[in-house]
Amino acid sequence: MKRARARVLVTGGAGFLGSHLCDRLIADGNDVICVDNFFTGTKDNIAHLLGHPRFELLRHDVTFPLYVEVDEIYNLACPASPVHYQNDPVQTTKTSVHGAINMLGLAKRLRARIFQASTSEVYGDPDQHPQSEDYRGNVNPIGPRACYDEGKRCAETLFFDYHRQHGVDIRVARIFNTYGPRMHPNDGRVVSNFIVQALRNAPITIQGDGRQTRSFCYVDDLIDAIVRLMQAPEGTTGPVNLGNPGEFTIRELADQVIGLTGSRSELVYRPLPVDDPMQRCPDITRARTLLGWEPRVPLREGLERTIRYFATLLAEAEPG
Ligand code: NAD
Ligand code: UDP
Ligand code: UDP
Repeated sequence: MKRARARVLVTGGAGFLGSHLCDRLIADGNDVICVDNFFTGTKDNIAHLLGHPRFELLRHDVTFPLYVEVDEIYNLACPASPVHYQNDPVQTTKTSVHGAINMLGLAKRLRARIFQASTSEVYGDPDQHPQSEDYRGNVNPIGPRACYDEGKRCAETLFFDYHRQHGVDIRVARIFNTYGPRMHPNDGRVVSNFIVQALRNAPITIQGDGRQTRSFCYVDDLIDAIVRLMQAPEGTTGPVNLGNPGEFTIRELADQVIGLTGSRSELVYRPLPVDDPMQRCPDITRARTLLGWEPRVPLREGLERTIRYFATLLAEAEPG
């Protein structure tokens, strides 16, 4: 659905999801301000938008106040993979919490609708399966993943308190594992790791016994859901789970990637990291009902597109 042209702020807009969101918002005819401190994002992800008359890039850290004039805010700024968010855990919590406060303060002043990229990690290592939005989670508050999980939980608290206390129009999505072009080749996430390893014919690193499960959503499906949530009627606060309920073991994923790349890689087994959840699968009943949304891209097709992206990236980085 096309809407009247809006001024839209996207924090974390040079990242994996943020850059796809900027593409979509520009294509829909909006003016986009992309804010990023390039902690994990890169200008390459948005290079094609630089110079576009409706696109503007601001280097800025969301832990500091930001004064701009916009109609809508999408708050995505935060490192998302364990390797990156554990690199500077204090900064990770600050980004989630101070970032949320600043963006909510901005939304409050402007009476702007604001979206929060929350995460399935708010459920921790779940003891309910699949996870619906009323499940309260099983998070270790002092473990190595806590800077991310608890930071995102606190951000959700802030969003709902700004909503109740100040009437801010909020949209909170709990995003499950998402993959696609522009994932970082070195951020340790399982889809990018396996594809890069397979394309190099290097050993595929399975952590644990490979029987833990994840559900993988292709990026285009996810962006569609985010925009639908933002366009849903007043009062659609969420939280709403967004993800693909197809559940696969990590071993199955490795086999698929090897099959699709025709790789000679062998499987090697590594220890399971601390607090690594054994099972994760979204219950997306609420997203189906509220947004009329359903993920469309099957894992095989999404992997093929992602493999093509990484093959090009590696060919450019490692010619010959
Ligand atoms: P990403 O690392 O590619 O993008 C995050 C972006 O935020 C990067 O461009 C980074 O430079 C920027 N950033 C980090 N700290 C910042 C700060 N203090 N100020 C300004 N910019 C900052 O990760 P992504 O996968 O695109 O994730 C985007 C959002 O979605 C994150 O909030 C993440 O928690 C959430 N999310 C992602 C997934 C997933 O599977 N990709 C799953 C759940 C939630
Ligand atoms: N803020 C911002 N941009 C704005 C308005 C507010 O970055 O346009 C920040 C501001 O620095 C403040 C935070 O958002 O620290 C929270 O704002 P709020 O109005 O809720 O709190 P207060 O200003 O009363 O502390
Ligand atoms: N994983 C793996 N090999 C890798 C990277 C990850 O087996 O090279 C596993 C990891 O232990 C976890 C799953 O794949 O069980 C998903 O990991 P990822 O970091 O992508 O996402 P998250 O744990 O945040 O869901």
